[in-house]
Amino acid sequence: MKTAPSIPSPLLEVQDLKVHFPVRKGLFTKHQAYVHAVDGVSLSLQAGETLGLVGESGCGKSTLGRAIARLVDATSGVIRFSGDDITSLGASGMRPYRRHLQMIFQDPYGSLNPRMTVAQIIGEALDIHRLARQSAARQRRIRELLLAVGLDADCQNRYPHEFSGGQRQRIGIARALAVHPKLLICDEPISALDVSVQAQIINLLADLQTEHGIAYLFIAHDLAVVEHLSRRIAVMYLGRIMELSDARKILHAPRHPYTQALISALPTLDPASRRQRILLPGEIPSPIHPPTGCPFHPRCPRAEDRCRTETPLLRELDPNHWCACHLPLESSLRPDEPPQTNPAPGSLHG
Ligand code: SF4
Repeated sequence: MKTAPSIPSPLLEVQDLKVHFPVRKGLFTKHQAYVHAVDGVSLSLQAGETLGLVGESGCGKSTLGRAIARLVDATSGVIRFSGDDITSLGASGMRPYRRHLQMIFQDPYGSLNPRMTVAQIIGEALDIHRLARQSAARQRRIRELLLAVGLDADCQNRYPHEFSGGQRQRIGIARALAVHPKLLICDEPISALDVSVQAQIINLLADLQTEHGIAYLFIAHDLAVVEHLSRRIAVMYLGRIMELSDARKILHAPRHPYTQALISALPTLDPASRRQRILLPGEIPSPIHPPTGCPFHPRCPRAEDRCRTETPLLRELDPNHWCACHLPLESSLRPDEPPQTNPAPGSLHG
């Protein structure tokens, strides 16, 4: 008798995660309010997969990445890594997981210690996790890692300030790779770089994923950048996921009114696939006082009365296509519509 094919359990599972930061009115006053940076996010990620996480500045995507990496504490919810609940582990409890859960940051200038040489920066990661005890093995591994990220193996004794922005990001990637991570949380890793260098780093990350099977949570404000790497994309707004589906569906058949507005702002060279720009009124509201009901309702062109009072849950419209909206949500595009080509990364800003 044939057995049903087993579905692999996810490498990362996040359930109803909230991160609320207290804010004080004055130096000696008690907490007055909370920033709802992440407000009930659920998602999962399989080994070797890339999930793109996009949204405007201040939507909580970086805080979500940091909470998953356990650099900030969750207020509530659950984070499971390789099936284990890591939500409340302290520094020593996180040690066995830290090696497999690495992060690269937006600012390649600020994330490297300026007083350490490249060899010390990468070697430190090897030392912490006791991955190369002998000096010759350590030296060999540092050279391997530098070559793997496209740097000259002879640059080991140089300091971060002697490198360009793209090269510094490569050093950060080499440091993360040193410990054989299963998941790399990439927090806007290319947004501080020139466009030509951005493409090189994207290609490097894609090659490393093919070679090492690393899963990426790729955070960006740029949908076109995320498209190049991601199998699925999650769209965030004001601390919540609005839509989550295959990258192709998000980019070519978006269902949520917010995603549709973002996609309508992407540039296209093809006049036939040019869409009417959906202009959203107002600004993203303050996460200290998020709107009642649907957080998007003050700006949504399709808002109804119930949107002001009832918060829509993330529901599955089609297999693997999740959306947080009360409406039936027909796609404005045919799912079989041929993909359009974006000439340049499209920013979600402005
Ligand atoms: Fe717009 Fe209402 Fe849907 Fe929110 S729930 S996205 S306000 S239609």
